[in-house]
Amino acid sequence: METFTEEERRLLEPFVSNMERPVFVLRNLPEVVKGALFSRYSRSAKSLRRTLLDEFIRNKEIGFDAPSAAGKAGSGAAKSGFEDIVATEKAEQFYDRVLLGYGDDSVAELAGAHIALEDISIIATKVVEDARIGLSPLEKSTRYVYFDQKDEQGRWRYHIEPDLAESEYAGLYRETCDRLFTTYASLIPKVSGYVSERVPRDEKLSDRAYEAVVRSKTCDIIRGLLPASAKTNMGFFGNGRAYEYLITKLYADPLAEMRALAASMQAELRTAIPSFVKRPDTAHGKETQEYIRRTRLDALGAAIPPEAGNEGAVLVDYDGDAEERIAAAALYPYSGQSMSGLLEHVKKMPEAEREGIIAAYVGERANRRHKPGRAFECARYTFDVCANYGCYRDIHRHRVLTQQRQPLGCLHGYTLPKEIADAGCEAEFKDAMDAAKEAWGQIAAKRPLQAQYVVPLAYRIRWQMTMNLREAIHFCELRSQMQGHIDYRRIAQGMFREIERVQPSLARHMKFMDMKEYAFERLEAEKKLDRKIAESMKKHGN
Ligand SMILES: Cc1cc2nc3c(=O)[nH]c(=O)nc-3n(C[C@H](O)[C@H](O)[C@H](O)COP(=O)(O)OP(=O)(O)OC[C@H]3O[C@@H](n4cnc5c(N)ncnc54)[C@H](O)[C@@H]3O)c2cc1C
Repeated sequence: METFTEEERRLLEPFVSNMERPVFVLRNLPEVVKGALFSRYSRSAKSLRRTLLDEFIRNKEIGFDAPSAAGKAGSGAAKSGFEDIVATEKAEQFYDRVLLGYGDDSVAELAGAHIALEDISIIATKVVEDARIGLSPLEKSTRYVYFDQKDEQGRWRYHIEPDLAESEYAGLYRETCDRLFTTYASLIPKVSGYVSERVPRDEKLSDRAYEAVVRSKTCDIIRGLLPASAKTNMGFFGNGRAYEYLITKLYADPLAEMRALAASMQAELRTAIPSFVKRPDTAHGKETQEYIRRTRLDALGAAIPPEAGNEGAVLVDYDGDAEERIAAAALYPYSGQSMSGLLEHVKKMPEAEREGIIAAYVGERANRRHKPGRAFECARYTFDVCANYGCYRDIHRHRVLTQQRQPLGCLHGYTLPKEIADAGCEAEFKDAMDAAKEAWGQIAAKRPLQAQYVVPLAYRIRWQMTMNLREAIHFCELRSQMQGHIDYRRIAQGMFREIERVQPSLARHMKFMDMKEYAFERLEAEKKLDRKIAESMKKHGN
């Protein structure tokens, strides 16, 4: 191991998790310093600790001698926001002067930040979550939380686009959103009363679990009433490079809410990873924004007559030779043969032999987390899906695939949960849906993108999903699990059936599909949680 003097150890210790071993974690460093440090490291023969010491800690320009860094961190005291900023600003100046010259975009992936986006519309969450690589989002759930809280002025919490608020449609828009929220809130006691009488109670179900089951089932039934304008909260952990591109795209968006979000995200991220969020509104960033705007095909798309869709997932394209591709790719890392040679080889073999190779490659999957290997990424499937927007917003969160949606509207009708009718609330639900459709129709005639906000989650949207078989296995198994919402469980089950129809020998490896339907999806999950709570209390002596 590299040796350090006592003095060097004293300087380094606050910033590394150990001084003895070759594997260690960085700590107490501003994000921008971490990014810059790794960048230097990639072009140096020195160890990371030595680079940190020579080029950063002992570099006056970065400000490690300021109280912000070594001193406070070394004493174990938490650094104040102000002190962090001092260090960040100095590190940023250093980064810009010395490192930006390398022009290596991937350096921006080495620093990250957590960000909260509060009071943004459901429409906006989908636009930001379209960004996939380098970002990990989490979003307030419409399945576990009631959206029935008004703001401090006593108004329902929904977004209105600024120029729509100035237009002739403002009254209609507000009236419709208010009505949807009022109906949603008024249905909570009615539907939860209906549900609570039906949840099977036994001594194994605690009061906590019972209430959670009633609440989540009620949320699942009534969420279709929420307009897409409803304000919600979400958080991200992401790296600098991903944020840079996301902000650039948001600036180029036709909706004012996204552009305002771009500006506020950029301003806040400047306090944590300033160097990495500079580009979006520089001349270079503006050119990229312009490129994104220029390549939109709004007029061409609108000129093609729309067609109403039916609920479900239709397989529109797939690799007919998927089995051969997968068998060849499974053998590839273990052989010295070329890919085309391997394809020829597996094509010539009897079907049973090919299936045997794939079966050996998949092995015995004990649970859905035992994922078949990368060869399963060599077969692709494209689905055209039509389902309610509530369902879409859950499914949309998957990242290892290509998804594109059409504008949200009322063209494909809406999903009426059967429990709404059983609970005697059908008329209220339908009236609210009809009012929303009417408002959408009027607004969409002039402002199709802004009209999306007035559409409630029960209306259907159409979207495309192209994915490889490895993701299809993950997606279909996860999204068919018992505790999922019935609407997306049906989509996942439908996709599985489509793959099974065309390639049964591959579909049989999707071992953890749940094809049943349940009256209370969260019942077993809550019972399991009860058992875990009891075990934990026993363990900790409570
Ligand atoms: C029953 C249920 C309830 C849920 N409730 C909520 C909720 O309340 N709030 C909420 O926000 N979300 C919720 N989700 C969504 C969930 O958090 C995931 O975002 C969503 O299921 C996407 O799945 P994924 O991350 O497994 O996979 P995908 O994005 O499809 O990716 C496939 C796999 O690739 C890997 N992967 C992909 N991206 C990354 C990455 N950035 N880092 C590391 N590994 C990665 C992972 O192994 C992942 O499982 C819920 C999902 C289910 C099934």
